[in-house]
Amino acid sequence: MFDPSSIGAALGSVKTIIDLLKDANDKQLAFKINAEVANVQGKLLEVQQQALGLQLDNQELRAEIEKSKSYVQHHSVIWKLRSDGTEDGPLCPACIGEDREMRLVLVPHFDQTGPFWIVYCPKGHVDHRAKTQGFQVQKQESTYHVPKELLPENYFYCP
Ligand SMILES: [Zn+2]
Repeated sequence: MFDPSSIGAALGSVKTIIDLLKDANDKQLAFKINAEVANVQGKLLEVQQQALGLQLDNQELRAEIEKSKSYVQHHSVIWKLRSDGTEDGPLCPACIGEDREMRLVLVPHFDQTGPFWIVYCPKGHVDHRAKTQGFQVQKQESTYHVPKELLPENYFYCP
């Protein structure tokens, strides 16, 4: 992390140099000045390193912001924003939370004739092992209701 006290320390050294130079006329003094200058250089190198670290942090944060900007959530599912402003989806919210783009699919053997597509995540988020350990868990995968008009007519039935 960036530590502004490094800059303060560097400036303190510079002030010391200036003070020393006020009556500089012997070798011992020149030696002291050199030592202080070396000290300043060291501190400035530290600052430089920290600035570099900050730049990297900044880059990562920007990338993260860009990524979060490219998704929206409505009708309880995730939609990926295309560059032309249209939305691609539906994607699984739980999977996006784990950094994975997973397309929701139709729940099989289910009446899909209503105004909504009933979809679920094929990856599965119910941990069946947990049951045997006596924990209470969801017994069924989450399903999502996506209004049919939000998707192209043949989205689930590619020719
Ligand atoms: Zn999922």
